[in-house]
Amino acid sequence: MFKKILIANRGEIALRVLRACRELGIKTVAIHSDVDENAMHVRMADESICVGPASAQSSYLNIPAIITAATLTDVDAIHPGYGFLSENQRFAEIIEEHNIKFIGPKSEHIKMMGNKIDAKKIMDQTGVPTVKGINDLSDKNKIEDFIKKVKYPIIVKAASGGGGKGMRIVTEEDDLNKAINEAKIEAKKSFNDENVYLEKFLTSPKHIEIQVLCDSFGNVVTLGERDCSIQRKHQKLIEESPSSVLTNENREKISDLCRKSMKEIGYEGVGTLEFLYENNEFYFMEMNTRLQVEHPVTEMVTGIDLVKEQILVANGEKLSIKQEDIKLKGNSIECRINAEHPESFIPSPGKITQYHQPGGLGIRVDSAVYDGYSIPSHYDSMIGKLITYGATRSEALNKMNRALEEYVIMGINTNIQLHQKIIQTDEFKRGSYNINFMSNLIE
Ligand code: ADP
Repeated sequence: MFKKILIANRGEIALRVLRACRELGIKTVAIHSDVDENAMHVRMADESICVGPASAQSSYLNIPAIITAATLTDVDAIHPGYGFLSENQRFAEIIEEHNIKFIGPKSEHIKMMGNKIDAKKIMDQTGVPTVKGINDLSDKNKIEDFIKKVKYPIIVKAASGGGGKGMRIVTEEDDLNKAINEAKIEAKKSFNDENVYLEKFLTSPKHIEIQVLCDSFGNVVTLGERDCSIQRKHQKLIEESPSSVLTNENREKISDLCRKSMKEIGYEGVGTLEFLYENNEFYFMEMNTRLQVEHPVTEMVTGIDLVKEQILVANGEKLSIKQEDIKLKGNSIECRINAEHPESFIPSPGKITQYHQPGGLGIRVDSAVYDGYSIPSHYDSMIGKLITYGATRSEALNKMNRALEEYVIMGINTNIQLHQKIIQTDEFKRGSYNINFMSNLIE
């Protein structure tokens, strides 16, 4: 078993991984930037090491510094968390070249899924339904034929996209070229890859994703779905499991296809297949080859610790869980707590002057902030996740209402009020919401 793991991340996810390590009897090494010296993940780790100044580029994305830290502390493995280097194929390769295990999939799979065009092709070949699209934008006639077939609206997307960047929705022909050029510029700037492609834009789908867990012996299980349709600017805000709209039959059908596909490509570790879901049909969009922010809702309804399982399969162990043992029980909802203004959405870093987090049965808070903590301005504004669990959806919802009321974070702005507003709408209560929910709410 791994003796020591370096966690190449910060914030709540660094803490989440650290907790799993501790329960497995594995020592931890935290890395941090100079502004994160007093961060909770640093305080709680067995060892810590500064990898650079505040900017993420110089610290949490600084591969040579992280490798040096891993070598100096003599770790067996590196857990990348999510974001930062978690889907960086080169990082995974360099780690393995240093005889350190990367806790994640094989680098070939990171590469395969890192390009959304390739990912869709592979999924298509393995029998997973995908959104209709066109990848080669060099031939105007082909584009015209495609649009004639699927009709406007369409969406321009970046092949290396993430975080909702490099996307443009086009409703009429006159806007197409401009949208393609704008998306290219944004994609080049954000991902250093200007490749974009077109997809049919579905007007009122849900975003539903399937969690997979695979070992290195070809065993694959799926752990149900997460409904992540509450999004702002294509960024998830609230997630839940199970989704209110899926029948058992629908769930089984898509889960079967995902398992078959993962087996066929020989995937290892945890992963998420993201779909749009409209009129009872699933359309694959992309696969995330890492732990997701919203993994806790799956843990709550399956009782399975995804991070521990991820570490165990990376250690070369056989999955001990069989598909027939995985039963979804109850309902779980997660609200992402962001340090931002509830109306302008402008990030709100600064010192937390008073902090009280909710508790009680069925309440889970995954966060790394504390009373007196200063949120640096250099990183993501998500400062924690509030997760509730109930035997029924209405119980999980009542608990969320109560927990949001109880949550006190003073000194900075947060989106707690916005969450209260969202979950009290009839549409959210019914669970029938789709990806347009937030734009309708804000208008
Ligand atoms: P990213 O990797 O940048 O998050 P995704 O491909 O996962 O991009 O898409 C993010 C969100 O954008 C989806 O959850 C959905 O709300 C919207 N979206 C993407 N593609 C389409 C599409 N073809 N039709 C409608 N909405 C889409």
